[in-house]
Amino acid sequence: MTHHVAKLVFWGVRGSTPTQERDTWRYGGNTPCLELTAPDGTHFILDCGTGLRMLGNRWTRANGGNTIEAHILVTHYHWDHIQGIPFFNPFFQSQNRFHFYSFQSKYLGPNSLRQVLEAQLASPYFPVDVNMMTAGREFHEITGGDKWVVNGTQITCAWLNHPQGCLGYRIDTTGGSVVYATDNEPGVPENDLNLRQLAQGADVLIYDAQYSPEQLASERKGWGHSSWLEGVKIARDAKVRNLVLFHHDPDSLDKVVDGFLSAARQEFPATWAATEGMSITMSERGVNVEMRETRSGQRRRLRFTAIVTGQSEDGKKFEERATVRDISLQGAYLCLKSRPKLQSEVRVVIEAAADPTASSMLSLRGTVVHFDAGREKTQNGVGVVFIDDTDPARPHD
Ligand SMILES: [Zn+2]
Ligand SMILES: [Zn+2]
Repeated sequence: MTHHVAKLVFWGVRGSTPTQERDTWRYGGNTPCLELTAPDGTHFILDCGTGLRMLGNRWTRANGGNTIEAHILVTHYHWDHIQGIPFFNPFFQSQNRFHFYSFQSKYLGPNSLRQVLEAQLASPYFPVDVNMMTAGREFHEITGGDKWVVNGTQITCAWLNHPQGCLGYRIDTTGGSVVYATDNEPGVPENDLNLRQLAQGADVLIYDAQYSPEQLASERKGWGHSSWLEGVKIARDAKVRNLVLFHHDPDSLDKVVDGFLSAARQEFPATWAATEGMSITMSERGVNVEMRETRSGQRRRLRFTAIVTGQSEDGKKFEERATVRDISLQGAYLCLKSRPKLQSEVRVVIEAAADPTASSMLSLRGTVVHFDAGREKTQNGVGVVFIDDTDPARPHD
């Protein structure tokens, strides 16, 4: 029996403008871009925000000069959904082939998407001329209500309620169905109904959850976006299996998104918050969500015992004794008699336990990033950021 698996990867999840603040790092700062691979291998890209650059690098690395072909569905022309186009390497390689789909904007007329793309690369906005974009490009003009098939995958689109227009897409693959409905403000009955029809019974609904329900009802009313609560209502009405909160506000710190997610899960347990690097596979076996590795700090192996409390998948609380097998570290603040020079290298060895075995010692290479007089006269305060000196042959687990 053939096993049909469709895979969705989130390369950008942030709305409006990219963010790089540390406090937005966990969910990610790149603007909307999703990669969907149908079970037959057909590639789809949903939106061309800044996340597109990383997807291009991944494809270029993985592909070794072979032809890349993909179908690119663009929801609308706001910057956050097109900004990655000039930085997508595969557009500049002549063996590649791309099929673009978007609507005719009343502000631009026929060939809107083509014009947008050429304007982005026009002088003096970008150093490279559009003629350097040598990949084959075909533009398809579509409109709300259209339906078409690409290699056995059916695509349907519907108008959403957003300034200057926006399309929502439903993609039905043989592995499962995804509805991508970002940049939408509820409250227009016709659009609300269209969206529920589009999302009917979908495996995954990706929905604009930029604001809190309170913001949406007050100071952000009319801005063209939505909330987790509206997402929950649509998910219930349309009987979708999984809801993904998307298009996080640039001013929403990670803890704010955490709050939206936990509130949404109280109402609709199968909710996820879109995270850069997250992937969702869909098949007859169901939907499986995975996260990329997010501990970016250097890891050190050791053995601590810890008491861990939390909540299991079925909602039951647990408390258990566990072994900490590795820990990641960014840096430390130390009190030293010595005066290391700023931007010089130090080694810090920490005894993690009374038992002086190798597995309870942390030996870390660091660079000095801060120096002050220290709290006691005899000692200096030294800030150190740890830098990688791991053995590349050591397996990660
Ligand atoms: Zn947007
Ligand atoms: Zn928009």
